[in-house]
Amino acid sequence: MKLWVNGELRDADAATISVLDHGLTVGDGVFETLKTVRGRPFALDLHLDRLVRSARGLGLPDPDLDEVRRACAAVVEANPLELGRLRVTYTGGPSPLGSDRGDAGPSLVVALGEAAHRPDTTAVVTVPWTRNERGALTGLKTTSYAENVVALARAHRQGASEALFANTVGQLCEGTGSNVFVVVDGRIHTPPLASGCLAGITRHLVVEWTGARETDLPLDVLRTADEVFLTSTLRDVQAVHRVDDRELAPAPGPVTAKAMRVFAERAALL
Ligand code: PLP
Repeated sequence: MKLWVNGELRDADAATISVLDHGLTVGDGVFETLKTVRGRPFALDLHLDRLVRSARGLGLPDPDLDEVRRACAAVVEANPLELGRLRVTYTGGPSPLGSDRGDAGPSLVVALGEAAHRPDTTAVVTVPWTRNERGALTGLKTTSYAENVVALARAHRQGASEALFANTVGQLCEGTGSNVFVVVDGRIHTPPLASGCLAGITRHLVVEWTGARETDLPLDVLRTADEVFLTSTLRDVQAVHRVDDRELAPAPGPVTAKAMRVFAERAALL
C-alpha cells in the first residue's frame, strides 16, 4: 500500500511524520473520509470545501488544494480498489513541546483502504453523553475524535454499529460518524446544523434529493418515529432496525427504501 506524505508517494511502512506533530500531541488537525468507486473519489469538491472550512475553524493555514487533489489521484492510482475509503489528514505539523505550531508548516497525509461492506440495515444506541452545539469545534471535522471512539465502543459492546448523541438541550444531534434522519407521518426530518451536527456531505445530498426537512427534534423522537436512517460517506443511506431496545420493522421502511433508491440513482450520476 502506498500513501502520500508531505509531497511524496511512499510505501506505507516507510511513510513517517514527526512524533511532535501538533496533530498527534494535541489533536490539532482536520480530516476527510471519501469513498472511491473504481478509482474515482465521490463528491471530491464538497469534501475539499469542508476540509478548508474545518482548517479555517482550527486556525490552520488553508490546505493547498492542488496538492490535495494530486495526492488523492496519486494514491488512488497506486492502489487500485473497486471500493475504497480515502482518508485525507491535514495537521498543524511538528512543533516543539509546549509551544504553538512550529515553523515547519502543516502535514498532509493521504491514505487509502478497502471500504468495508455495509449492510442495508443496522442497530444503533443512544449514549448518555452530549454534543456541544456551541463549542469551538462544533461543525468542524477535526482529528479530536476520542469522544466518538468512546461512544462507538459502547455501541459495539451493545451489539450496535453506531451511537447517537443528543446535544446539551436534549435535541437529537448525530452519530459518531453519521447523520441521523427520522420519518414521522411520511415526512423525512433531520436535525439542523444548529443542533451541533457535522454538515455531512451525504446529509446535504439527501436533504437536496428527498426534500427532507431540517427540524429541531427531541431525542425521544427515536422512541416514536416510524422509520430511522443514517447517512454517511461509507454508509450512504442505511436503515436502522433497532434503536436501543426498540425494534423497527420493517426496515428499511417504505420511505427509507425510497430514499436509498433515490440516493443510489442520483449518486451514480455525480
Ligand atoms: N457526523 C460525524 C461526526 C462524522 O464524522 C461524519 C462522517 O464521518 C458524518 C456525520 C457524516 O458525514 P459525511 O456524510 O460527510 O460522511
